[in-house]
Amino acid sequence: MGYVGQREEPINLDDAPLHPRYCYLPETGEERYHSFLGVPIIHQRRAMGVLVVQHTAKRKFDEGEEAFLVTIAAQLAAVLAHAQLSGSLKIIPGQRQEMVRFEGLPASPGAAIGKARVIMPPADLDSVPDRECESIEEERVVFLAALKSVRDDIRAVGLKLANRVSVQEQALFDAYIQMLDEESLGAEVLKHIDEGQWAQGALAFVVRRHVKYLEKVEDSYLRERAADIRDLGRRVLSYLQAGGEAPREYEDNTLLVGEELSPALLGEVPKEKLAGLISVKGSSNSHLAILARAMGIPVVMGLTDLPFAQLEGQQLILDGYRGHVISNPDDLIRHQYEVFIEEDKALSDALEAEAGLPCITRDGHRIPLLLNTGLAADHARALAYGAEGVGLYRTEVQFMLAERFPSEQEQVSLYRKQLSAFAPREVTMRTLDIGGDKPLPYFPIAEDNPVLGWRGIRFTLDHPEIFLTQVRAMLRASEGLNNLRILLPMISSVREVEEARALIRRAWVELRQNEGLRIAKPLVGAMIEVPAAVFQIPALAERVDYLSVGSNDLTQYMLAVDRDNPRVARLYSGYHPSMLQVLAKIAIDAHAARLPVSICGELAGDPAGAILLLGMGYQSLSMNLTSLPRVKAVIRRVTLNQARDLLTRVLKCASTDQVVGHLGVFMGELGLGWLSGPKS
Ligand code: PEP
Ligand code: MG
Repeated sequence: MGYVGQREEPINLDDAPLHPRYCYLPETGEERYHSFLGVPIIHQRRAMGVLVVQHTAKRKFDEGEEAFLVTIAAQLAAVLAHAQLSGSLKIIPGQRQEMVRFEGLPASPGAAIGKARVIMPPADLDSVPDRECESIEEERVVFLAALKSVRDDIRAVGLKLANRVSVQEQALFDAYIQMLDEESLGAEVLKHIDEGQWAQGALAFVVRRHVKYLEKVEDSYLRERAADIRDLGRRVLSYLQAGGEAPREYEDNTLLVGEELSPALLGEVPKEKLAGLISVKGSSNSHLAILARAMGIPVVMGLTDLPFAQLEGQQLILDGYRGHVISNPDDLIRHQYEVFIEEDKALSDALEAEAGLPCITRDGHRIPLLLNTGLAADHARALAYGAEGVGLYRTEVQFMLAERFPSEQEQVSLYRKQLSAFAPREVTMRTLDIGGDKPLPYFPIAEDNPVLGWRGIRFTLDHPEIFLTQVRAMLRASEGLNNLRILLPMISSVREVEEARALIRRAWVELRQNEGLRIAKPLVGAMIEVPAAVFQIPALAERVDYLSVGSNDLTQYMLAVDRDNPRVARLYSGYHPSMLQVLAKIAIDAHAARLPVSICGELAGDPAGAILLLGMGYQSLSMNLTSLPRVKAVIRRVTLNQARDLLTRVLKCASTDQVVGHLGVFMGELGLGWLSGPKS
């Protein structure tokens, strides 16, 4: 790339050979040329190559020519980067593959080596994986049967409409039937089957190719035929899928791969066979990730460049700590991960052995560890790990798994299970926090800016009937147990707290007066996850019983980084100096207002983060089940003073990198590096 790549700007010369950095490349035959214009191809700050034009005349390229080349280079950069990242320059079905590393978002910790099993949504031509067939003859038979079924369907519709449509319109049905003829589209698909592709893959390939071609043609009539072909293709595909796949057999170490995996899959694959999940869409906040974390299954999400349909049956490494997926690993990488997975397992076993011990620092300071959960989690394991209660029960997860709003009675039985499993320990139930990145399938909210939109408390206050039903269900469920705490998400003003408290009070009074239920008044807390709330702690103290910091959203709003957007994921860090300042301020202000404060964002479950939060004076830390033993192990190995000293040092840092550097040194000096996941 030479000088242009190094300078990262266009170089425009009238006589290149006279330039001191001129480098003659004999293979290009460039001795004939004098003028030279080189423009770097830059993607996300990285020079990927150089676009060069040369001319025999001794003249500089003019401004317009230069601007034109810059435009082409910028457009080319995104295309090349995608091709490189997606491995499409390297992945050729049926051939020995090269190793490719895909970068996504870590969504659940752990690493795994396994075989990809591509999951496709029904009748979706774009996600049908390439797969070699076992018997060409059988694939031909099922394909021809599916083709015939669709032809019969179309004929039947045609007949039904015979009296209602014109002769020309009738002809359309004939045209569709012809397209599906064994001599036409059918013949092309059969050709691919004969080459060894399974029927679904062959069909998807042929349909996609036709659609792609038709979408580009100028004639608008022909362009519209693309939709017809796609529709016919989907019909054939649904027949293939309906009659097709035998109940799935899952091999050991299965890695499920898909564009958007659904949580229901976790129930479908036997747990002992499932090694991990890889999803193109989503982030660590998707409910699939939350669920998988609770089950200890490693996950990588947000792999926007993953050519998932081509990965069927391939050997993959999933690194849920870093958010990487590696296809066709070479022997060295594979060996490194095998060793790491064994070490990780040994570490988990060792941590489990001390999981029952109390969570106290070396100098006797006690800090309760609480559980974050969203489902009927593994109560027994949580209690064995010494969870001193539930610090965050994300009620929306149950709402997201349902097909409609759950009824009051359905909610009562769910909540009762949680409350009684942990009684007499306290269970903090958060009122519905939907919207933003957590839409309900049966209540779509279309917004340009959902993260800044109608979510959390904003939604529930506008729907008091939903809020009241939920709160009543929580209160009923707590009867006789009296260990319920209610938590309000996305609070940005005291008014929201006042309104929510008034509704909670109304539900409580009505249940006592109208039904004579003897329910203790629950403590009500506010989440601090919107920057505005950080500056309202004294006012909030007069209105709530406790605070819980949602560092996940607070990071997103403080740093103006969408927590779900893989493009800016590297800017998202709870260790940003401003985040540390704000977290320290919250603890100081809460103490001054004599308001108990805990934290339930992911930072609390990070061993180094937990030490800093301990130093700041947080009274309890709430985290997912898998993080609990790690955090306990680290807290049992430090003193409160060491935590405070470390905090003092990092609060002086100017950048996230410096903070991370300090934390690395600290963990290393204490011999705790092994608690921070794999080394980079
Ligand atoms: C948070 O924002 O930190 C939090 C705990 O809530 P959620 O991740 O569910 O938005
Ligand atoms: Mg939140």
